[in-house]
Amino acid sequence: MSMLEYRRFSSLEDALRFLSERPDAKIVAGGTDLVVQMRMGKLKPSTVADIRGIMELRGIRESDEGLEIGALTTIEEIRESSLVERLAPPLWEAAQEFATWQIRNMGTIGGNLCNASPAADTAPPLMVLGARVRTARLGGGRTIPIEEFFRGPGETILEKGELLTHVHIPRPGDSEGHAFQRLGRRVAHILSIVSAAAAVGVEDGRIGWVRVALGSVAPTPVRARTVERELTGKTPSRDLIKSASEKVLNDIKPISDVRASAEYRRAMSVVLVRRVLEKALRRAGA
Ligand SMILES: Cc1cc2nc3c(=O)[nH]c(=O)nc-3n(C[C@H](O)[C@H](O)[C@H](O)COP(=O)(O)OP(=O)(O)OC[C@H]3O[C@@H](n4cnc5c(N)ncnc54)[C@H](O)[C@@H]3O)c2cc1C
Repeated sequence: MSMLEYRRFSSLEDALRFLSERPDAKIVAGGTDLVVQMRMGKLKPSTVADIRGIMELRGIRESDEGLEIGALTTIEEIRESSLVERLAPPLWEAAQEFATWQIRNMGTIGGNLCNASPAADTAPPLMVLGARVRTARLGGGRTIPIEEFFRGPGETILEKGELLTHVHIPRPGDSEGHAFQRLGRRVAHILSIVSAAAAVGVEDGRIGWVRVALGSVAPTPVRARTVERELTGKTPSRDLIKSASEKVLNDIKPISDVRASAEYRRAMSVVLVRRVLEKALRRAGA
């Protein structure tokens, strides 16, 4: 029987030094993805580095630029945060519908992103909010836009020995509106079949800029750039939103799996994009 080495850290520096010496060690935060994968035999790490005790990676802070969320902040902490509700509304909405209380209490925002599931519910909201992620490794780190973080299912840009430390979300402007919506077979306990988020800035009655992102419909969470191009600079109307939402089919590549068929995902993507756009525009006062 192979033995599993378990190491627990309360200092970021100690964790980074250990990871640089033992690049094959698997990081664990809440364990709600990792432990499931280990139990299923999909992952068989020989060493696990538990980072839950690193306090500087926890918490939600307001800064001059907007919001800073530590990678170890739990989904439940995000769900209960009035700061997130005010400064990152679609992320807050995603946390309301995320899994069960038990999973939300264990699962972290960093784990949700680093697991790189196409169905990660925090990813589309962070994409439309223009978030950036900060990483650390021994002797350095980098800050990159969230969209550049995902490479494919289960794959991110993180290199061996590199940790996700924080998520930065810019402060929203006055004439912005946001929305998030997900579709699952049940309200909780289950990953999304499709999720969608939108952020829109209204200028002189027109759509000055717009971002739309979806989950569970491509190998990574994706921006719906064709939809965005169709809307930018135009005066919002029901007909415009309806025809632009249909363009999402150019931006997604869904597959059939145990949760839903590709055909159903395509149909529901159009519906969810229309709904989040309508809601975001209403909230922006358009
Ligand atoms: C019953 C159930 C329901 C679920 N429902 C949902 C849902 O509704 N929506 C949803 O999106 N997800 C859902 N999930 C998936 C999971 O709970 C989330 O993805 C959660 O946020 C993962 O966080 P964690 O801290 O538990 O990650 P972990 O399991 O600890 O880690 C996940 C991965 O990320 C890596 N990692 C973790 N933190 C870092 C870091 N800071 N830096 C570098 N790498 C890191 C780990 O090495 C591992 O590969 C569900 C899971 C279960 C079991």
